[in-house]
Amino acid sequence: MFIWDFSAIFAVILIFGVGIVLTLWIIYTLNRQRQQSGEVIADFLRHCHYCSYIYLDYRKRVPCRCPRCKSYHD
Ligand SMILES: [Zn+2]
Repeated sequence: MFIWDFSAIFAVILIFGVGIVLTLWIIYTLNRQRQQSGEVIADFLRHCHYCSYIYLDYRKRVPCRCPRCKSYHD
């Protein structure tokens, strides 16, 4: 039979505390990665004013050239 003395109670509380902190850290990290990936994609998103084509421009060129209608815009 297991005996509940002070060191056993302390060990259980410590293990649960570390588990809670680790779980919260993992949830925070996953949410942060999801938000950053959305910001990065939105940063490279371009919209052509002439043909309304939406595309990604990773080089961030100014002026930018539309891949569909080949017109320049910024
Ligand atoms: Zn275009």
